[in-house]
Amino acid sequence: MKNNYVDVLIVGSGVAGLYCALNLRNDLDIMVVSKDKLDCTNTYLAQGGISVARNKDDVPFFVEDTLKAGQYKNDLQAVKVLTRESIENVDYLVSLGLDVDKDEDGNWDYTKEGAHCVNRIVHTQDNTGENVAKTLIKNALSRNNIRISEDTFLVDIIEKNNKCIGGILLKDDEQINVFAKCVILACGGIGGLYKNSTSQRILRGDGLAVALRHDVELKDINYIQIHPTAFYDESDDERRFLISESVRGEGGKLYNINGERFIDELLPRDVVSKAIFKEMKKTNSNYVYLDVSFLDSDYLKNRFSTIYNKCLEKGTDITKKPIKVSPAQHYFMGGIKVNLDSETSMENLYAVGETACTGIHGANRLASNSLLEGLVFSKRAANVINNKIDNLNLSKIDIDEIYKSREEIEENNRCLVIQAIREKGGVIDD
Ligand SMILES: Cc1cc2nc3c(=O)[nH]c(=O)nc-3n(C[C@H](O)[C@H](O)[C@H](O)COP(=O)(O)OP(=O)(O)OC[C@H]3O[C@@H](n4cnc5c(N)ncnc54)[C@H](O)[C@@H]3O)c2cc1C
Repeated sequence: MKNNYVDVLIVGSGVAGLYCALNLRNDLDIMVVSKDKLDCTNTYLAQGGISVARNKDDVPFFVEDTLKAGQYKNDLQAVKVLTRESIENVDYLVSLGLDVDKDEDGNWDYTKEGAHCVNRIVHTQDNTGENVAKTLIKNALSRNNIRISEDTFLVDIIEKNNKCIGGILLKDDEQINVFAKCVILACGGIGGLYKNSTSQRILRGDGLAVALRHDVELKDINYIQIHPTAFYDESDDERRFLISESVRGEGGKLYNINGERFIDELLPRDVVSKAIFKEMKKTNSNYVYLDVSFLDSDYLKNRFSTIYNKCLEKGTDITKKPIKVSPAQHYFMGGIKVNLDSETSMENLYAVGETACTGIHGANRLASNSLLEGLVFSKRAANVINNKIDNLNLSKIDIDEIYKSREEIEENNRCLVIQAIREKGGVIDD
């Protein structure tokens, strides 16, 4: 067993964790850990893009689109913060090296996704998340004050008098107790708990389990988003491959197996998912069709190169045939309750990204608002920490050696999270 001391411990290497690290002061000693490889995140999988207000005038419309998609269950203040601070954060991400697609005049090529009233999604073809991840990883690796540790599992946080003073980690079966002035949970969502999900399998709500063990407040944990269009593949037991919202945004049409249209494709995700389930039931089918084959094939191959190649690998040439799709778990709107500065109910413990619940999504996330939330609210956490950390001291307590295996801890986490979600009426399979 080893003890380690840092200023800030960040658990998670997705957009929220790494962007937070990059916004913390250069003179702070920061440790970022991920339970798998650095790029094994849902951030890496994001296809569609990042929503951003077109300009100041667009902010009220962006607010309204977010509220409407969220069935007005959103936190209005948080939505205002998200939309107002969207431009400066996407600008900063671009300044870090993200090369977003541009139109012929060199302006950002904004695309449209369901329930946005205007085109306001910036993207890099259909692999925005991969490029966001690569940009953040490159910048983080170049910073001397950021230590990164892959394959390092957070077992628990360390608590003293309702203050968070560090985290207990497992790496190569060795226990490392990291004492930190602040801890940031950026552990992503819960999709790995579902058989049928678009998420990385490793993301199983570990952050929530830690919060539950320490009575840290949670919020809206019954709000789980089902994405309408994941690739349907009978033989596939793996993660479901997502057919991004932007495919419908660029004109893709849904048909039931009898070739009948049944829904406006650009309605919010929950509405489209429900309509698909209904149609599947009505036609006694496990899927419906999403068709883009009527669009120009060169355009499709370029604009949706990831989707084109993946579908081809799975036997569907999207330039020639409709894609079989069905809904799958996709996103967790609830999470660890945080205020506008990403502070949890425990002192010196922060939560950012999909692990956190800022309340911006309400009951249903508006497309492409998640990467943006990861940027805006992790930057706010960093700002608060930058200002207050000089007044904090490192604390230490004696910690027992943990003899449990990582598998055993993950199983405990899984049971704890499933039970909590069920108790709140959320739908989750076992
Ligand atoms: C297929 C797909 C497509 C998507 N497309 C879009 C899109 O176009 N636009 C958009 O805005 N959103 C999209 N989303 C949602 C978005 O990608 C995620 O919500 C967002 O990236 C989450 O970022 P994050 O930093 O919170 O977590 P993640 O990027 O998921 O990272 C989680 C991190 O936590 C670490 N971790 C977890 N538990 C532990 C533990 N116990 N110990 C140590 N480390 C741990 C993991 O190792 C990982 O590094 C998509 C999601 C999916 C699945």
